[in-house]
Amino acid sequence: MHSTNKTSFLESVDLCFNRAAKALELPKGLAHQIRTCNAICEMKFGVELRGSYEIFTGWRATHSEHILPAKGGIRYAPFADQQEVEALAALMTYKCAIVNVPYAGSKGALKINPKDYTIDELEHITRRFTQELDKRGFLGPGLNVPAPDMGTGQRMMSWIADEYQRLHPSDINAKGCVTGKPVHFGGVEGRIEATGRGVQYGLREFFRNPGDLKEAGLEGSLQGKSIIIQGLGNVGYHAAKFLEEEDGAKIIAIIERDGAIINKSGLPVEEVSAYKQENRKVEGFPDATFEPDGAKILTHPCDILIPAAMEGVITEENAPHLQCKVLAEAANGPVTYEADQILNQRNIFIIPDAYLNAGGVTVSYFEWLKNLSHVKFGRMDRRFAEAQSQKIIELMERALGKNLDQNAKEQLLEGPNEINLVRSGLDDTMRESYNEVREQHLNNPMINDRRTAAYALSIRKIADIYDSMYL
Ligand code: GLU
Repeated sequence: MHSTNKTSFLESVDLCFNRAAKALELPKGLAHQIRTCNAICEMKFGVELRGSYEIFTGWRATHSEHILPAKGGIRYAPFADQQEVEALAALMTYKCAIVNVPYAGSKGALKINPKDYTIDELEHITRRFTQELDKRGFLGPGLNVPAPDMGTGQRMMSWIADEYQRLHPSDINAKGCVTGKPVHFGGVEGRIEATGRGVQYGLREFFRNPGDLKEAGLEGSLQGKSIIIQGLGNVGYHAAKFLEEEDGAKIIAIIERDGAIINKSGLPVEEVSAYKQENRKVEGFPDATFEPDGAKILTHPCDILIPAAMEGVITEENAPHLQCKVLAEAANGPVTYEADQILNQRNIFIIPDAYLNAGGVTVSYFEWLKNLSHVKFGRMDRRFAEAQSQKIIELMERALGKNLDQNAKEQLLEGPNEINLVRSGLDDTMRESYNEVREQHLNNPMINDRRTAAYALSIRKIADIYDSMYL
């Protein structure tokens, strides 16, 4: 990775793991087994482009196999490397266990700057990468299921699905070999917004816990809370937009690649995003102060700081100066191990990545279930539920001797459709898991913070699976 941190991303993940494993009583050697990355493959493949061959390097790591398939995104980034892929794959293992999604952890990357290639070229490269993954046993609906990550999106996922289908024409579940596909190509409603939505639901659950609020030095609700967000990519954009528009939070600063924009009374996220799309920068956004050294803004006072970009951005250098009350980790691995220790000493309340950004993989799970069941969510029960509600309304109106309010009636009448079911499933997951992590923290005197609790919770769950396998 291009970061200059003393402790690498992978070391940070492993150190957090070790700290949590120490708080648990596990059979000898099991923690080591769980922590170890089971398989990693480096692939080099040539693609004929612009009249010559270009060699690409990609990786896929299967961190664990206590349950299959293994799951995790594919990143397209010029700075990708094997260690980063391993760290991200390990995080996927812990993440899936925390939110009770029945997958092992995996991750992949291709060392490429997607901006340097045309759409046709990217398609060609992605199809070649798919063939390599398939050939080496790193792809398949029951084996290993990629998804979007940094630098990849829906279109690439449909190329992967299509290529896999060509290679396995008789596999009826072929579409389930990858998630994050467009809805018209086997995807599920709400997958694009899922990680940001999960961040919103996770923060809402934090605000429902008076004990946690008190610990963080906050009170009330999300309404009017000041938020600084780093990264207005898919995750950051959706999280900031929902928190602003639906919960009334104030996005007082947005940190992007070219610098940060600040407005104490709150920035309109949708407008900033449109401005960024058009100008490829945030500098010059009206009614905001611009700071070219964006990283400086991480240490500005706010209620909630949301890093939603890269790993390793909060380090031992800036951790002593952070002035947020809550650090809500929407990115994977934004805090180094040293910084984590400093923040714990400073009592900054951390909602850790492995829990908070698990919305993406949770909705990927729903998409995969849809692919395997070959039916859209709500198709069987929507009209039935509507007819039942209609009968209840009629009975109520007859008993009351008057008609119910039309608006209320329409709301009651709406049967479950896919987007509502996906959001409801995600909300339930984020609420339940928040409290599982919280209980893990409060019930184990050896655990002093939420990250350790989240890791311990996932290690416990994986250890239980091993236990039942080797009875
Ligand atoms: N790349 C996302 C993550 O880091 C999603 C993974 C998935 O949906 O499999 O969680």
